[in-house]
Amino acid sequence: MSQVNRKSCRIAVVAYLLSLAAVAASAWSTHAAGQAPAATKVTVFQGTPLIVGDGRPPIDNATFIVDGTRFGRVGRTGPTAQPTASRGAVTGAGLRQILSGHYVYIHTDDAPGVSSTFNSGIIVTNEGVVVVDALSSEAIARKVREAIVGVTPQPVRFLISSTFHDRFTGGNAVYRDIFRIGHEDYRTDLMRLLQNEAPEQRNAKLPHQTFRDRVTFHLGGKEIRVLHLGRAHTRGDSVVFVPEDRIAYLSEMLNFEEFPYTADAYPSDWIRTLQAAEALEADIFVPGHGFLPENPRDTRQALGRHRQILADVRAAVEKEVARGATEAQAVRNIDLPQYRRFKGYTQAMPMAVRRTYQELTGGLQ
Ligand SMILES: [Zn+2]
Repeated sequence: MSQVNRKSCRIAVVAYLLSLAAVAASAWSTHAAGQAPAATKVTVFQGTPLIVGDGRPPIDNATFIVDGTRFGRVGRTGPTAQPTASRGAVTGAGLRQILSGHYVYIHTDDAPGVSSTFNSGIIVTNEGVVVVDALSSEAIARKVREAIVGVTPQPVRFLISSTFHDRFTGGNAVYRDIFRIGHEDYRTDLMRLLQNEAPEQRNAKLPHQTFRDRVTFHLGGKEIRVLHLGRAHTRGDSVVFVPEDRIAYLSEMLNFEEFPYTADAYPSDWIRTLQAAEALEADIFVPGHGFLPENPRDTRQALGRHRQILADVRAAVEKEVARGATEAQAVRNIDLPQYRRFKGYTQAMPMAVRRTYQELTGGLQ
């Protein structure tokens, strides 16, 4: 950890460092909460693979600091030889301020799966806090709520959930005391996911209110629009848009430097829905997966890139369908080397080919 002089970091209210990265034997340091108040929230990630997102090659074993609204210093902590396509997970968690009143809680782990970075959005107003997505477990959701207490005395008033996937709803019951909102198809799909749970537990997780197209809050003089712009990552995705601050939380509709996960997706609709998101008068698009780039405004470009991945998969599958390929042949034939560096490519790319093939041949419900 030679590149970072930890003593020089202003550690403020929030600095969570959890567990160990699979690739890192080095010890993590834990900074106690509640030290001298400062405007900047600093989180240190150590011994983690990192894609900085500015065009430089991935750093396999990085140490970096998320300092307020920016990445602070970044450097290698030691030499590793991980192949690009199998970068290990980043572990750790922390709260990063994006703008005044806007935060992202970043949870990272090495659980099996395509993604290892999970983001929850936090909007603070002087009439309460809105949380976007509860993340995967009650333990993590409690950490998020503790982190919120660290940055504002305002109570959490609303939980807005975008996708029903358990990595984003497993913590819902920690918001059992909070009014919960989601799209009507989100509720239907979550209900199905929870069918074997006791009614009381199920009710603690399901939304109180559903909507079809939009629902708008006015909190602390701020307009907060919850929008369903069309099917995308699932059929019930929501976008949380705050026009005054030109920021939109896209949940799993947007990954940053991670390949789209399409198990329950509608690939062609997703392309159109992302176009609708791009038409929002916003500068910052908070992804559900992946670290925000150093300059959060670079996410507008990332949104276009994410749409392009889906469009390139579709174009490749269209060609295969046109020449009579079976689904299995399409999976075998298609490679998109320009996206190999995206996390999850090995698993998520063939999945996207299958899902798109099924869609183009009339196989999706
Ligand atoms: Zn998902």
